Amino acid sequence: MPHDIMGKYAVFLDRDDTLIENVPYLGDPKLVKLMPGASTAIADLRGANFLLVVISNQSGVGRGLITKEQVRSVDAKMEELLGGENIFATYEHCFAVPGDPYDDRRKPSPKMIQQAASDLQIDLKRSFMIGNRLCDIQAGNSAGCKTVLLSLHVPTNEMQEASRLASFVASDWPKAKDWILEQASKHK
Ligand SMILES: [Mg+2]
Repeated sequence: MPHDIMGKYAVFLDRDDTLIENVPYLGDPKLVKLMPGASTAIADLRGANFLLVVISNQSGVGRGLITKEQVRSVDAKMEELLGGENIFATYEHCFAVPGDPYDDRRKPSPKMIQQAASDLQIDLKRSFMIGNRLCDIQAGNSAGCKTVLLSLHVPTNEMQEASRLASFVASDWPKAKDWILEQASKHK
């Protein structure tokens, strides 16, 4: 269904341990490695006309461990590995450290998702949030999206609650992508 009739829909994506392997406070683009299956899944989601939006907490900036420029260089490398520029409609990063006065955008807050939805006129009810942490699922649920827990690297102490709250738990990227496409097809 054309976007101009129904409003746009998106897949909001966590970055670390969802799109790329998590290296804590990663600032070196040479260390960027895609998660298994991410490349094909992203290509298929783009092919299905989803806007793709990265929603990422990057507190390493607020902690003074990495710069915003380094975060962006990692993003650029990730896009290159995924096959080119402009794969993502936009990025929403929160650079704040938990507990500081500027952390109100940090996941589990839905604010970054809501900001992107407002900027890009995204229909949140027909959109999805995918991530590997409880805070990703909470943010997506609070924004009114369907949520997918990609269970490749979920912290052990978050697994039970994140699984309970997610709309779907996917053990790998192909299963996550297939479920999203199946849900989306129900609206056609
Ligand atoms: Mg993550």
